[in-house]
Amino acid sequence: MIIAIDGPSGAGKSTVAKSVAKRLGFSCLDTGAMYRAVAWQAIQNGVDLEDADALGKIAEEYPIEFGTVPGDPSPRSVSIGGVDVTQAIRTAEIDKAVSPVSATPSVREALVRQQQRIGAAGNYVVDGRDIGTVVFPGAEVKVFLTASAEERAHRRVRQNADRGVGSIDYEEVLADIRRRDEYDSSRAMSPLKPAENAVHIDSTSSYIEEVIDTICKLAEEKGC
Ligand code: C5P
Repeated sequence: MIIAIDGPSGAGKSTVAKSVAKRLGFSCLDTGAMYRAVAWQAIQNGVDLEDADALGKIAEEYPIEFGTVPGDPSPRSVSIGGVDVTQAIRTAEIDKAVSPVSATPSVREALVRQQQRIGAAGNYVVDGRDIGTVVFPGAEVKVFLTASAEERAHRRVRQNADRGVGSIDYEEVLADIRRRDEYDSSRAMSPLKPAENAVHIDSTSSYIEEVIDTICKLAEEKGC
């Protein structure tokens, strides 16, 4: 079974995905981490972020791997080309670089193929922007998770403070969230939009636990 969770940056998708996966005994796939890893590698290689061919090559040739710990459905680490980039992909520099990288069709084609291969191997909660529309259009459960930009910025600041990586300046984080919303929603290929049959959940004023309960109930209704 695939549970697809799409939505804008900072809506709480990865936190919710991890908890839902834990409760249901599913694995988790954070597709945003894959686009971030390609952006990181592009910067390392000195690639121009407008160079679609070079970006596509990186997505094709550098293996992205998630490190798991037995008994925990959420990967602890992510690596690209054998280098651990778990922390390095959460910086403000990558927040900016990932938009042009994820708008590049050849990058999306390569990563979508990998995501489909991973998801086909078992029960997965997959979070991203195009999971219910493009990657797994046949997903049994599709959720579109949103929250106001201000609430998402507050959450991202707290998350960055906890992780000790990324900006903790509210205005800077809010501006980045608004910029990425605009970029992700207006790109030509796989723009951020809800699947037709997605259940919309606005988490602005609800507790994360309620969101998790709602998604687990949807999965149970589908026979999970
Ligand atoms: O989810 P996260 O904020 O880590 O994603 C980073 C970026 O990767 C997003 O801003 C978006 O541009 C891109 N992305 C995407 N499609 C996905 C997941 C992420 O385009 N399925």
